[in-house]
Amino acid sequence: MGSRTALVEDLMKRFPHVPREAVFKEDLLRGGVAFGPSALSDNEGGEVKPKSYFIFSFDHGTLPELGEAALRRPPEEIILTGGPYDLRRTVVSVRVNPASPYRVAAGPDGLLGLYLDGKRISDVGVPPMPEYYRHKLSNGKSVMEVAPTIQWGYLIYLTVFRVCQYFGAKEECQYCDINHNWRQHKAAGRPYTGVKDVEEVLEALEIIDRYDTAKVSTAYTLTGGAITKTVAGRDEADFYGHYAKAIEERFPGRWIGKVVAQALPRDDVQRFKDYGVQIYHPNYEVWDRRLFELYCPGKERYVGRDEWHKRILDSAEIFGARNVIPNFVAGVEMAEPFGFTTVDEAIASTTEGLRFFMSQGITPRFTTWCPEPTTPLGKANPQGAPLEYHIRLLEAYRATMDEFGLSSPPGYGPPGPGNAVFSVSSFMDSLPANEPSAAKGTAEGTAQGATEDEPSAV
Ligand code: SF4
Repeated sequence: MGSRTALVEDLMKRFPHVPREAVFKEDLLRGGVAFGPSALSDNEGGEVKPKSYFIFSFDHGTLPELGEAALRRPPEEIILTGGPYDLRRTVVSVRVNPASPYRVAAGPDGLLGLYLDGKRISDVGVPPMPEYYRHKLSNGKSVMEVAPTIQWGYLIYLTVFRVCQYFGAKEECQYCDINHNWRQHKAAGRPYTGVKDVEEVLEALEIIDRYDTAKVSTAYTLTGGAITKTVAGRDEADFYGHYAKAIEERFPGRWIGKVVAQALPRDDVQRFKDYGVQIYHPNYEVWDRRLFELYCPGKERYVGRDEWHKRILDSAEIFGARNVIPNFVAGVEMAEPFGFTTVDEAIASTTEGLRFFMSQGITPRFTTWCPEPTTPLGKANPQGAPLEYHIRLLEAYRATMDEFGLSSPPGYGPPGPGNAVFSVSSFMDSLPANEPSAAKGTAEGTAQGATEDEPSAV
């Protein structure tokens, strides 16, 4: 295959029912994008909302390798529209790769565009600085540091524990750079709170609530690293749960509350529910047994794959199947040296996992793997997974949902090309628009639609 343009156009031709917006989005997410100086932000003092590094780095280089993008942050997300492919509005999370064939830069007219192989392929919009980012907490911390928003402002991302107790090669998930990301921000002298104080979180939320008068922020996610022992004297359910409890007491029902945590025993899951959490994300990461054991050695050792899956099913009895939404990291199935060597095998395995959960009414979702260079899998696979895998996954995901009569999961915003705000994979861009469920929110019928990136940690 020649140029990246040829690869993309070939896949658009072969998979005409996958929205072309999703083809570009997946390619940008798996491979990253370069930024010209005119497309960077002026950090928190400017007019463009900067990338917050809300959990992982989601970059293809370490900060020192990113050049000017390490000093002037790129935007949190970009929106693609128009151009020769006539793209509908597509929100894409920013993953920086100075060596990418994709580049965001201003054209001769001064307007930002996305260029592929040197040719302009779409207009680019960047998120305006939200008013709530302009206000500091009483201790001087920024709202972006304590309670960043993503998904074009839809989701407040509360990584309240910015490291993971699975530590080192024998325990860390092989695609995860949460611990490295913490170290690199500290080394760069950036503010990066390891454990967020609950009062700090409440104060940041108060600022968001006060200035988000249009009520764009719709959901919050509580997440962070796995807790195998305790943090501040609390076990995992108690630690993440006590933020939810405090938020729900202070702002009852203001946002859809979600928690990304390990697959915990039933009593712990019940605690989340009792604290007011509405959606639970016990991420299963990768379906294949051998790959789970190799890629998630800590989870395998402490919990084990079979028990992990059993707990996911058990949690549906507490939250309702619609509100249990486990994530997997799409693409690691094909990572060398252990992954599947053909797209057919990888899709077959992933579909087996989708069928396992969807047959129980549980709708998994996925984030597109970003091969961060400080992770073992990222180091061995700097190009990520083949684009064809990602396109065929969108097809398989939608087909499996149809097979089991499911619709887009709650908490992710509106589905459909041109509507979706979920920015770290294009599964929401690839589902049909205007489903009845899209306006319903959670199974309990609370808030509207939904979104989350969620890349999700644990
Ligand atoms: S994916 Fe989650 S459990 Fe695995 S190392 Fe990262 S933070 Fe820890």
